Order: sequence, then structure tokens, then C-alpha cells
Amino acid sequence: MRKIRRSLWLAVLPAILLTGAALAADRDLLFQTSTLQALMNGVYDGDCSFGELKRHGNFGLGTFDGLDGEMVAVDGQFYQVKTDGKAYPVSPAQKTPFCEVTFFKAEKVLDLSEPLDLAQLEKRLLSQMPSGNFPYAFKITGKFSYVKTRSVPPQTKPYPPLLEVAKHQAVFEFKDVDGVIVGFYHPNYLAGINVAGYHCHFLTADRRAGGHLLGCRIKQVRVELEQLEDFSLRLPESAAFSRTDLSGDKKQEIEKVEK
Ligand code: ZN
Repeated sequence: MRKIRRSLWLAVLPAILLTGAALAADRDLLFQTSTLQALMNGVYDGDCSFGELKRHGNFGLGTFDGLDGEMVAVDGQFYQVKTDGKAYPVSPAQKTPFCEVTFFKAEKVLDLSEPLDLAQLEKRLLSQMPSGNFPYAFKITGKFSYVKTRSVPPQTKPYPPLLEVAKHQAVFEFKDVDGVIVGFYHPNYLAGINVAGYHCHFLTADRRAGGHLLGCRIKQVRVELEQLEDFSLRLPESAAFSRTDLSGDKKQEIEKVEK
């Protein structure tokens, strides 16, 4: 009897494993390193290499070791926008203290040609999401009449909190520019882990400039949207992360720094 059971298991096990793998592949994963609240507190040492990060996504945003600029990843190409406003290619050995990536595939496509500003665009996006209870990744490609971005300067130890660094951010303005917004929407319950609501970075179509998105007005764009049903958080194994106080609510400070 036992023998029969075991052989039965051996027969069905591959089928179960295959079904499991197929189900896992159907679910879309948001992969993030560290938490935004830790970054707010000055945990800026890169802990995860871009070589490793690329195994979890080809699309995303974040920052660099020592807070050296803004990261934008699109179509598998990773860029570093420094405070000179220029976008530089990222090497696999570079490290990040905070990033979020996914393997982007559009589930919903929408063409927009109204002159929406960022707040109006965010509202429109929300109306296209089947549920505000999931994170979403979105890619907005096309022509913009106006884009405003920022980047932050590299920091030295002892690291000041992000609120301090943001006071010295470099701001860039683009008029009549072709480019792409790489963005994520996070439900309110992810506040602290990330920005509650939207977090967007921008890259020009020639891949030479960009930054963390502060404002825009669209001209003619294609919006691609993907709902993400899985979330993986990779926490830094550093003394700085272990020691920092993450007990408080930094929601207002996060709003100040990211908007
Ligand atoms: Zn950002």
C-alpha cells in the first residue's frame, strides 16, 4: 500500500510543480531593496548590486550608493542621472541602497493627447486601475510640452537625513521634449516602505538626461499599465539599517521630499 502511494506521488509531483511554476510566472512581481523610510533616515550605503537587481527586473527606479543621483531603468537599460542632469550607463558592480524594479509588460494601453499636468495625469491613471489595492507599474512614452526633474548630490558620512539633502537638489526643466516616465503606484498600506501613491522618474528619448519627476505637462503620450500582484522586499544586512529607528511615521516628510 505504502509503495503504491509513494509511486503515485512520484507520478503527480512533477505535474504539481509545473502548475505551481506556471502560476508563479503569471503573477507580476514588484521587487524592492530596503525601505524609503530607511533612506529618509540616511541609510545610503549601497547594499545590492545592479548585477543582482537586474535578475529581478528590467524596468524601475531608485538611487545609488551614497545617494549619488537618480536611477531610471527602461527596456533593460539602467541609467544614473547625476546632479549635472546627464544620464550615465550603470555598471553591474555599482550598488544601490534603494530601488524598485519589475519585468514590465503592459496589460493596459491608453493614448492621451490632452495637456494634462502631473496631478491630472495621476488622477487619470488611478481611474484606469482596476483596483487601488495593488501596486502598479506604468510607462508613459511620447511627447511632453514640459518636464521638471531633480537629482540629488552624493553624500559623505556621517550621512544627513534625506530631508536635508533634498534642500540641495539640482532641478532641471525640459520644454517640448520626447521621453519616458518610469513610474510606480503604491497603495496607502505601503506608506513608509515606499511613497504612498506615485513615484516617477523620467528619461529623455535620447537617453541623455532625466531625473526624479517633479512636474510635467503631456502633449501626446502612450500610457502602458501593469498591475503587480507579488511584492518582494530585500532588506539590507548592514549595521546602519539594523540600528536606524524605523518605528515612527515619516509620511509627511516623505511627501515633502518626493513631491
Ligand atoms: Zn525618486
